[in-house]
Parts: sequence; C-alpha cells; structure tokens
Amino acid sequence: MKPLACSHWLRLAGLFLFHVTVVNAAVRPNIVFILSDDHTSQAWSCYGGRLAAYAHTPNIDRLAAEGAILKNSFCTNAICVPSRATILTGQYSHRNGVKTLKDAFDGRSDHVAKRLQALGYQTAIVGKWHLKTEPTGFDYWNIIKRQGRYHEPVLFEMTLDKGEVQEGSYSTDVFTDKALAWLDQRQSDRPFCLMLHFKATHEPWNYHPRHADLLEDAVIPEPESLLGRTGPKDSRVPGWPLEILTERMVKGGHGAEALRLSSADPLEIRRQSYQKFVKDFLRCGAAIDENVGRVMAYLKRKGLVNQTVLVYTSDQGYFLGEHNYFDKRFMLEESLRMPFVIRYPAEIPSGTSVEAMVLNVDFAPTLLDYAGGEPSAAMQGRSFRKVLKGEVPGDWRQAMYYRYFENSLPRPSHFGIRTHGHKLIYYDGLGEAPEAARWEFYDLGADPYENVNRYDEVAGSPLIRDLKERLVQLQAEVGDAP
Ligand code: CA
Repeated sequence: MKPLACSHWLRLAGLFLFHVTVVNAAVRPNIVFILSDDHTSQAWSCYGGRLAAYAHTPNIDRLAAEGAILKNSFCTNAICVPSRATILTGQYSHRNGVKTLKDAFDGRSDHVAKRLQALGYQTAIVGKWHLKTEPTGFDYWNIIKRQGRYHEPVLFEMTLDKGEVQEGSYSTDVFTDKALAWLDQRQSDRPFCLMLHFKATHEPWNYHPRHADLLEDAVIPEPESLLGRTGPKDSRVPGWPLEILTERMVKGGHGAEALRLSSADPLEIRRQSYQKFVKDFLRCGAAIDENVGRVMAYLKRKGLVNQTVLVYTSDQGYFLGEHNYFDKRFMLEESLRMPFVIRYPAEIPSGTSVEAMVLNVDFAPTLLDYAGGEPSAAMQGRSFRKVLKGEVPGDWRQAMYYRYFENSLPRPSHFGIRTHGHKLIYYDGLGEAPEAARWEFYDLGADPYENVNRYDEVAGSPLIRDLKERLVQLQAEVGDAP
C-alpha cells in the first residue's frame, strides 16, 4: 500500500481532532443546577394544583415547557441538610452519614462535583450550602453559612473565616449576580457545572419590597383539609399546625410586616395566618422565578442554550396549609415531592412530562451521565437520562424507600414505601413504648390528598402484606436496617 504523504496525515489528524472536539462538545454539556429551599410543587404554576393561578412562575413554567417536568420526583428524607448531602453523593442518608439537620457533611466523601472536576469540568457553587463543613470539589464557592438571611446576606467566598455583608442586596438576586459573574470569567474552552442554591423559599419568607403588592388583594384558595383537625383523619401524627406559625408571625419577622389579626375565632385566625403565609411564600417564589429567568436569558445571550443542561429543583416539598400543617419532614405527598424541571434541547424533547419515579439519589448519576462519566460504585441512584428522552428502561423502579430519622413527638421518625398507587408508612418514633409505633396507609388513587389513613380497614389484606414485603426488600436493597 502506498504510504500517505505527510500533508494527508496532517489533514486526517485535523479531521480526527475536529471530530473529537465536536463529539466532546455534544457529549459534555455544561450543567447549571439551580436548587431552592422548600419551594414546593404546589407553588409552581406548571404543576397545576390549587395555587397554579396564583404562583408567579412564568420562567420556571417556560423552562418546563422547553424541556421536561418530572411528576414523580421524590426526596428520600425530606429535610434540608440530608437532601443536599444526598444530591451531592447519590447516597441515602444512612449511607452518607447526614441523617438529620445536626449532621455535618464529610468533605472527604466522593461526590458529584469532585467527579465532574476529575472529568475536566470547572465547578462552582453559590448561595446556600448548609452542609456545615467547607465545600470540597468546587473550584469556586461563595456561600452563606447555615440559613443566612434574605436581606443583606453575609457571603463567604472561598473561606469560612471571614464573610462579607452584601449591602443593599437581596439574597436571591445577589446569588445570581455572583453566579453569572463567575460564568463570565470562566475558561470558555472547558465545560462547567454551576450550582446556584437559593435560600428562598425557606421560612421566614422575607420577600423583596418589589413583590409587596403581588397578590395583595387576592384571596388564596384554601386546601380542603385546612379547617379540619390537624393531620389526616385517623392519623396519630401531630405535626406542626398553623397555630405555631401564627404565633411566630404575630411576633413579627415573617414577610415585611407582622400578622395583624382581626378576629378572635380560632378558625378565622387560622385562615388569616394561611393567607399571609402563602402570599409571603409565593412572593419569595416570584424572586426565584425572576432569577431563573435571568439565568435562562444569560445562557441565550451567550449562545449556550443547546449545550447546557439546565435544572431547577427544590431540596424537598413543603406543606402549605394541607392538613393544617406547615413545614416538611413527612412522607406525605406535599413534603415528599421534589419538583424538578430540566431543559437540554440536544436530547430532551420540549413538552416532555415524566411519570417514572425519580429520586434525589438519582441526580448525581444523571449529571455524571451527561458529563460522559460514570457514577462511583458507592452511589446508590441511577441515571434517568434515558427516561428524559422517553426511553424508560423496563426494569425502572416501581416503588421507593423513604426514611426520616429525626425524632420528636410532633414530628416523629418514620420510614415507608411509596408505589405509583399506594403508600405505607411506619411511624417508629411515636413514643418510648414499641406498641406506640403505628402503620399508616394511603390509597393515592382514591385519596390523592391523603386525607384519610385507612390502615385499620385493610390491615390484613394481600395488598398490605405485599407492601410490607416490598418495604423490607427495599430497605435491604439500599442497605438500611429498621
Ligand atoms: Ca429545605
């Protein structure tokens, strides 16, 4: 065979390099992962529901319309610090060691940002970190400590020793400012992963003054369970009733001004508290939406839309008056659901709606999949990249395992199983005596708002036996023990 001339080799090498570059650009998209705190699905217009017409989320809705919305995305332990540790590590709480709000994240752990770094990604996190120890795996970090504050937050840039007060700023806005500034100075020849974590919509919902008039004259629709007993019927779980919130709001510190009650009737007080609570919550959500819009506009302006995976999600859900509850922690739907939208026009068809069950343990493997990498052997979740393309693997999960570890009587520890149609919960933390432990069962088809615990009616049925068996199996599969 006649040897190729040198110029031919150079041309072929050039073609090869061009091919590699193009392929890499296609398989190594940028990642923008936006996370908020407690921004529950009822407060996102694109999820429908009773607040859809009141939630001001046009940008989040557009993100969903241009990509995918996950209808069954759930948290495996619905509380802030543990959910964040799970998102990073792809592991359940009992495995990564962050089971409760008190636990600190071990920065030596393997996690998604470290693996993205190893794949050549530039990584950054801005905003709420909440994992106590110094962030690892990020080339750049600029975070608030613990909860931080809504107005004039103190940001710690690459050191936890000295923070800087962001004078005259609002947390949701200033986090985005810092995140976009980092994007501006990045190396444009390497992919990036930016995590932008808002403090909103965590209590105490100090909204920006520009949203003070939003919903001012609106009467927010109440959930049907607002005015009844606290908690689902035949549940023994006390939870946090709105009366606790009323007390806090009357004292001030929530929203721009204290709650002023115009009635002494307990149910009327509950209703007035609910109105202020939800309006303040939605106002904080409006600022998030505007800033999601700013990120979308930035990506468009810089020509990055087609090569960037853009996610917006929340660390878990929240009760907005359902069962007369506020707060999260429970395995009930409002708290369990992690609203999640994602856009990646290169492979996710616009208008995609996903029914498959996705968990926060899956986030890290999925981001690594997009980056062309592999999850570590220690990661327990599974990439749902194919699911988003409409190709749901035949062996995709049909049930999930949940466990909440913190234990106090109003909000007892529990674990359980959720399938597409049913939910079985075991409250092991209802008291010192083992006989106080209690099962609860909800038929999600007949009772989607979980108004009635029907365990006693069906305790001996094949369905309950099957759910208990599957629960034990799931618990063993994820390596947890009762
Ligand atoms: Ca949270």
